[in-house]
Amino acid sequence: MDSYRAWADIDLDAFASNLGLIRARIGPGVAMMLVVKADAYGHGAVAISHCALRHGVGALGVGTSGEALELRRSGVRAPILVLGTIVDGEATACILHDIHVALHSADRCQMLEDLAARLGLIARVHLKIDTGMGRLGVLPERALPLLEQIRASRHLRLCGVMTHVSAPEGARDPFTAVQQARFAEVVDEARRRGLISGWIHLANSACVFTGLTPLYDAVRPGISAYGVLPGELPGSDELEPVMGLRSQIVYLKDLAEGSPVGYAGSWCAPRPTRLATLPIGYNDGLSWRLGNHGSVLVRGERARIVGRVSMDYTTIDVTHIPGVSVGDRVTIFGRDGEAEIPLEEVAAAAGTIPYEITCSVGRRVERIYRGGDDVLVPRPRADADSASEGTPVSPDLARA
Ligand SMILES: *Cc1c(COP(=O)(O)O)cnc(C)c1O
Repeated sequence: MDSYRAWADIDLDAFASNLGLIRARIGPGVAMMLVVKADAYGHGAVAISHCALRHGVGALGVGTSGEALELRRSGVRAPILVLGTIVDGEATACILHDIHVALHSADRCQMLEDLAARLGLIARVHLKIDTGMGRLGVLPERALPLLEQIRASRHLRLCGVMTHVSAPEGARDPFTAVQQARFAEVVDEARRRGLISGWIHLANSACVFTGLTPLYDAVRPGISAYGVLPGELPGSDELEPVMGLRSQIVYLKDLAEGSPVGYAGSWCAPRPTRLATLPIGYNDGLSWRLGNHGSVLVRGERARIVGRVSMDYTTIDVTHIPGVSVGDRVTIFGRDGEAEIPLEEVAAAAGTIPYEITCSVGRRVERIYRGGDDVLVPRPRADADSASEGTPVSPDLARA
């Protein structure tokens, strides 16, 4: 019998295979900065990052300095970039722990320079240019003065120039070409003036899988490494899903016709019904919006979610499943033998995107790692200065 109320199976072999597919698309001369923000999209950033670094990934992208520090504490010595921006309060930790920061303004540039000078250290920065995403980044017409300012700052080191593409369809969307042209214009002029150092990078998963060129020095894939792309994009059939979300039946009961189930009695048994209760709820990543809406797999068969999803529990109709028992494993998404509920299907049923589904798999859901036997995790050490030496440990230990 399974020991957990709810757990996520993480298939590190599938993950490594996806990295191989990305590598095949970008060719040998382009570096991979794997995006592991939001705890590696819910997959567990420490285990995922160590596995990735053994499979050709050269740098990691995170969402916050806290995520970067978690990786540093686990022994990651590779470059780590806070992709979006930091708030002022994160700056000291980033400089102290050699975490790269995306830079978007003259004020922030000055602040980092002053702080790094006080600390007697170097702050590594990537200039982020807003070519049409409209969210973060300096507008193209302000980029060159900012590059000049970085060049003149004694405690800043330029480690990259980047932009972010907004179209979910990557190179298939004509707006991406507009963004590329704006980016290329700045990059070309900056090169002429000798202001560039480090990596030039712009491509996310959608760009990589729609054949965007040029890819410059590095790509920043996230979702594709975890096995997902919008269905219509090329390569989505080759990628393997990495996460499966599971629970088990904790209780079975037979309800009379007309019995209400769950909060607000939003579902009533239309006939005598065998109802199963699962110890997984919206706090665990089974979206509230799947109430009366989605289905799960039990013994390879689909069972409908009935009633509202609660914080800790979900109810399903298993009347049609012969032999159904307490303790039966239940798959919310992922494969169960021959059967599968794709993550994309669950996202569509919940009215959201796959990113949000895996990110919202809760903290109390155990991550169970399979495969990736050749993962080496550097042991944290006092004299920590050797990046490559490692001790084989089980991925489970690696998470400790
Ligand atoms: C999240 C993110 C990515 C990765 O995007 P995917 O669509 O998951 O491949 C790349 N770059 C930046 C700046 C991001 O924030």
